[in-house]
Amino acid sequence: MRASLRIFLTALAFTGTVPALMAQTPPAPIVKVEGLRQVSAHVHIVPDNGVPAVPNVGYVVGDRAALVIDTGLGPPNGAAVYELAKRLAGTKALYLVTTHVHPEHDLGAQAFPATTSLIRSTDQVKDIAEFGLQLAKIFAGRSAIHAELLKAANFRKADITFARDYPLDLGGVQAQIVAMGPNHTTGDTIIWIESDRILFAGDLAMRAQPAFASPHSSLRHWLASLDLLEALKPAIIVPSHGPTGNGSGFISGYRAYLTEVRDRTVAEKRAGRSVEQAVEAVTAAFGDRAPDKARLAGAIKVAYAEAP
Ligand SMILES: [Zn+2]
Repeated sequence: MRASLRIFLTALAFTGTVPALMAQTPPAPIVKVEGLRQVSAHVHIVPDNGVPAVPNVGYVVGDRAALVIDTGLGPPNGAAVYELAKRLAGTKALYLVTTHVHPEHDLGAQAFPATTSLIRSTDQVKDIAEFGLQLAKIFAGRSAIHAELLKAANFRKADITFARDYPLDLGGVQAQIVAMGPNHTTGDTIIWIESDRILFAGDLAMRAQPAFASPHSSLRHWLASLDLLEALKPAIIVPSHGPTGNGSGFISGYRAYLTEVRDRTVAEKRAGRSVEQAVEAVTAAFGDRAPDKARLAGAIKVAYAEAP
């Protein structure tokens, strides 16, 4: 960690609040590794505490190896996530996978040593080739600390690539890694720990409204993805942001929302309305039920484009 960042973080820890100078900027996107908690026999998580640009980080520990899920924003967060992995896994082999290649999930991978095997879907490789560090540059503009965290960040090359599924035997526990795109991004990846019935769902099912973050994002595809997730019958969903959920409530919540967006938008298009008029009418119909208007508008635009 850079000295200036360490000093800033120390100051934060002492005051417990964001200094007045930084009051207008978003909270520091730091993975708080001290929040580590065990959620099942083989799974630990570090919750994001609701802080934007921080992911829920997952650790799946078997007899032979451990899998880390998501890195945090930039190498300093990646280093902290790696240190915790070493504490949990000791000398066992380490694997790393990310739920998608957005900066707070993936751009800490550089801080892991070469002995850690980074697993990527070919869709994630494609996302990196197509969009590169575009989003990282936007994130870096959010505050001085974001910029500092992302200063030397770049994508790490995969050690293992797979097209659709990658079953990973960690010794006494299996992680099923599945490429799900194009939902939030083309490279959306879920991790299913069947023995513990825990689903790392990425951005595919969370408390917050779904974000259509890629020009390839598809509402039709997302609904089909939710069917696949529901068929797993997870006991706990760890989304890539926000609180963990018991059962499949996040999945049914997303299905209800996306179905309503689709049906209302199709009706508007059939009635001859423009996409702008559809956004206005469907947004009004949702009212307070969809507080994130930008995300709702994004969903409506995709639904409009896909409507017959
Ligand atoms: Zn994302």
